[in-house]
Amino acid sequence: MKWTQTLIPTLREAPADAEIVSHKLLLRAGLIRKLAGGVYTFLPLGLRALRKVEKIIREEMDRAGAVEVLMPALQPPEIWEASGRAETASNVLFKVKDSAGRQWFLSPTAEEVITTLAANEINSYRQLPKNFYQISLKFRDEIRPRFGLMRAKEFIMKDAYSFDTTDEGAMASYKKMYDAYTNIFARCGLKAFPVEADTGVIGGNYSHEFMVPAETGENEVAFCEACGYAANIEKATSGIPKTGAREIGAAIEKFATPGVVTIEALSKEPYKIPANRQIKTLVYIADSKPVLILIRGDDQLNETKFAAKTGAVAVRAATPQECSDTLGAKPGSLGAINLQFEHLTGKVRDEMLEIRKHLGFDSFKIYADERLQGANDMTTGANEDGFHLKNVSIERDIKVTAWFDLRTVSAGEPCVKCGKPLKIRRAIEVGHVFKLGTKYSEKLNATFLDEAGARKPSVMGCYGIGVTRTLQAIIEQGNDKDGVVWPLSVAPYQVCITPLAVAPESEAMKLAEKFYAELSAKSIDVILDDRDERPGVKFKDADLVGFPIRIALGEKSLAKGEVEIKPRNGAVQFVKIDVAVEAVLALAKAV
Ligand SMILES: [Zn+2]
Repeated sequence: MKWTQTLIPTLREAPADAEIVSHKLLLRAGLIRKLAGGVYTFLPLGLRALRKVEKIIREEMDRAGAVEVLMPALQPPEIWEASGRAETASNVLFKVKDSAGRQWFLSPTAEEVITTLAANEINSYRQLPKNFYQISLKFRDEIRPRFGLMRAKEFIMKDAYSFDTTDEGAMASYKKMYDAYTNIFARCGLKAFPVEADTGVIGGNYSHEFMVPAETGENEVAFCEACGYAANIEKATSGIPKTGAREIGAAIEKFATPGVVTIEALSKEPYKIPANRQIKTLVYIADSKPVLILIRGDDQLNETKFAAKTGAVAVRAATPQECSDTLGAKPGSLGAINLQFEHLTGKVRDEMLEIRKHLGFDSFKIYADERLQGANDMTTGANEDGFHLKNVSIERDIKVTAWFDLRTVSAGEPCVKCGKPLKIRRAIEVGHVFKLGTKYSEKLNATFLDEAGARKPSVMGCYGIGVTRTLQAIIEQGNDKDGVVWPLSVAPYQVCITPLAVAPESEAMKLAEKFYAELSAKSIDVILDDRDERPGVKFKDADLVGFPIRIALGEKSLAKGEVEIKPRNGAVQFVKIDVAVEAVLALAKAV
């Protein structure tokens, strides 16, 4: 390809709305252009790199025994209603109407489509196992698109779905995909590592995410360098000890705390109750019902864990009014004792109880973090504004419905497996593997007849790779002050030939054409910078786009019978003209 023939609109400065380095470089290197927020055109070079990532994915998926299909982007809502996700995934579903007024969903993923296909086409154990994949455009009604391709309204995803007859078979399919992902990211030149993950709205019972470490990543990962434990912070646990019991406390005592509405305020003069002797009571609305969540004063609630442990789908913090309707006090004075508006009397109390019943807020579950198990001598809100209770013994005084690990781990806590201190780092999620079980196959009737003639639901797995996001993660990981530093495997072109004189009859141009032909014949992707520009401009652009190897043909070195070869990440080498092609081929093997 000749530079003047294609379109490489490099920019000196990135547009102001590009916040992270990879987003800036995607724009500056002329790889993508924004059409609207979260919607991008792939320019020729960006598309070339993208196609190379896709090719690697296809090769590894095929090698792992998956077969490619292509499913529609337009999906009928009925299948989403059948799976139960029309509501739970509603906030991310792109909904469109056709001229007859019929609604469609633009595919954010395809569990429902592939399971419907399997229900119709797979009938016998003889047809299993199967693993179907596709690489296609997906849509997400992202309210705040950000970071270029990282969080966009439309993006390219590879999604695969396995169907097995048994749980062991499903685990084997999962393992194949896990291994394929490891190969894919390694071949893309990415340092990605698997972490234990929450299964979220997709459901299922076992899952890993593949993470690329990056300061700008939207995920946090807890990991242990000693034993290799790694988990998304939404899922991570630690071996932190429980609060522990002190000598059995006296009876509960109410005391006045005027104006005190935070853990911190209560830990200061004149109260001096340390955060780790306080119970933080949170009111949440889980699937439209209030619940109380108790965690230690110095801990943070992990909402994802809470949803995963309780099976709640829609979870949010209650408003101050909802707190008041549920417990009779405002945030800051809430507790799980005195649940019947004890501080009120007569008609006022009767009315409050009546209102609560009317709202359906009168029966609520109390979930407590395991770290509070057995704790006594604790302090908590009295459900009366301006008052707290002390000498609280959680198991004596509070009717806890269920104990779960509900807290977010912090750096330095002991690893749950080996006890060494955990570290926390930010990362970009590029892939996700799930063992789904029979959740979708049961709801959408993807069943088969086993050897004994019994009808059973297929055991499923699903496996995603954000393809466009992977491309950006490669840039987020591979760049320097001059621009992108592509791995050879996915660079838009592997070699850039830069003649400094471009007149057709010039020696530099003739030689450039010769190298171009010879390298192309050896299956190297080459671009020839035939622009009539100053050398500085050409070199700057080549570095900005990040071609792994550059060959410069300048008058001075040609006079000495030499050309300049420069790896993007290395020093200039002067090489005799007649061995230049071999030298580039050798470098292409090495970089
Ligand atoms: Zn460990």
